[in-house]
Formats: sequence, C-alpha cells, structure tokens
Amino acid sequence: MANNKPRGGSSCAVATCTNYSGKVKTSGRKDLSFHRFPKDDILAKKWQHLCRRGDVWNSKTAYICSDHFTNNDFVRDLKAELLEYEPKKQYLKNNVLPSLNLPLDHSQKSSIRVFVKPSKSNECKR
Ligand SMILES: [Zn+2]
Repeated sequence: MANNKPRGGSSCAVATCTNYSGKVKTSGRKDLSFHRFPKDDILAKKWQHLCRRGDVWNSKTAYICSDHFTNNDFVRDLKAELLEYEPKKQYLKNNVLPSLNLPLDHSQKSSIRVFVKPSKSNECKR
C-alpha cells in the first residue's frame, strides 16, 4: 500500500507560516504542536478561510500549528501542570478558531501578485 504522505511530515496550513513538524526537532520548539482541522464542516471552513491560501488544498489532511492559538484555546492538562511535566499531547477545545500569527485580512486584498513577464515570443514574424 503506497501512502501518499507529504514530504517532511505535517506542516502548517497557514499561508504565512513556515512551521512544520521537523522544525520541532531542529529548532527545539517543544511547545509547537500540530492540530488537525475540525471535523465540523462549518468550523473547518472557517479555519480554512483564516489560512488565506490561494491554492486549492484539502483541509482534511492539513494541520495548523499551535502558534495560531492562544493558551486559552487549549484544554489545560491540570495534572501535567501540577506535576510539572509536559503534557504528551495538546488538545484544542471545541469550536476554537486560529487567532494568532495569521495573514492579514482586510488591509490587503489579495496580496498575491502574479508576476507576468511580457512574452517576447515573436509569433508570426513578418
Ligand atoms: Zn503555523
């Protein structure tokens, strides 16, 4: 069975974010975690919208990293906090939306500029 896994593990779906799972190891960012999109379609759409990506992508296989969520968005692991060990997994609360480090919204309407080189093809040279 060939699994079409993207190279380099999970990476963040947010357009301006360069975080990917391998970075956790290379940068020592233990606090960084990756979260699947919500199963709820409407909520997933909102997440997708907040990522502001211009391309077509499948949010079902995408992740958003913890950089885009506030501490309040995570379910607190009180046991881990009390015993001062790091929780194995960070869980997001239901119905939270990414709110930090997101691409700008209204101020920049489609900031993606496609640079088109004037084509110098001399078709039908007379
Ligand atoms: Zn990210």
